[in-house]
Amino acid sequence: MSKVHIQNLGMIITNNCNMNCKHCLRGKSCNKNMSKDVIEATLNQFIAIGNLCLCGGEPTLALDVIEEIFTYMIHNKIIVDQISMTINGTIYSLEFLKLLDSISLHSPNCRIILEISYDIYHQKELERLNMWETYLENIRKYSQSKYFYQLNRLTNGLKLFREGNAENLSPNLTVELKPIDIVVTYIGKSSKFDRNGLCNIGPFMAVNPYGIITEDNASIEHQQSLYNYGNVFNDTFEEVALERGRIIKPKQWNRETGKIIKKYITYNK
Ligand code: SF4
Repeated sequence: MSKVHIQNLGMIITNNCNMNCKHCLRGKSCNKNMSKDVIEATLNQFIAIGNLCLCGGEPTLALDVIEEIFTYMIHNKIIVDQISMTINGTIYSLEFLKLLDSISLHSPNCRIILEISYDIYHQKELERLNMWETYLENIRKYSQSKYFYQLNRLTNGLKLFREGNAENLSPNLTVELKPIDIVVTYIGKSSKFDRNGLCNIGPFMAVNPYGIITEDNASIEHQQSLYNYGNVFNDTFEEVALERGRIIKPKQWNRETGKIIKKYITYNK
């Protein structure tokens, strides 16, 4: 199996969460973390990753998984340009920040982006759990970290995907999840279109805690059924991308993936 480059890889590292937001795409949380086997079978496929998005559930409830991922990346010299994470802000964890320090130390060229969810749905859930004050204090503390990037807000007018708990919201607020388009290109030594060259996949693919290759915004339930494209033990991201997407010439690469990302973000307005 030849290793590939992916523009954005979503690793859903846990289905566990200590909140139950009314808009949560995942639906009811469960105590399932990504195993070491899934981590290895996933990362073993990549020579380089543009942006590695570690998502959940709540990532700070799966520190052992984050540690395994960082260890594997370091030992296998996988080039990662950026690691991004959004947490819910209920847990202030020095251990978590130390893990970010460790990867930052080993990979100084890797940018680390930490965001905290901040919207009306999270606020209502935090109030229900009587955690609003703790959350505000945690934002204050995390904002002093060099990894803190911003509060993650919902864009005005953007509708939510009708997945998980969001299926129970008013239909005016939601739209059906559409699978993200995939494009693949091969870059040979001559930079011409060459199937023997380095395979590049974009703009975004995701793997869940069970190793299923899926849509990043799908509910836990739909990852197993509607948006189940294969699993990392039997299938490669390259095969799945070729099956679901189209091959383009290297020159079109950035333009095409940029267009898809824009469409994916805006089509539901
Ligand atoms: S939206 Fe985030 S914080 Fe809220 S229940 Fe879902 S995973 Fe947890």
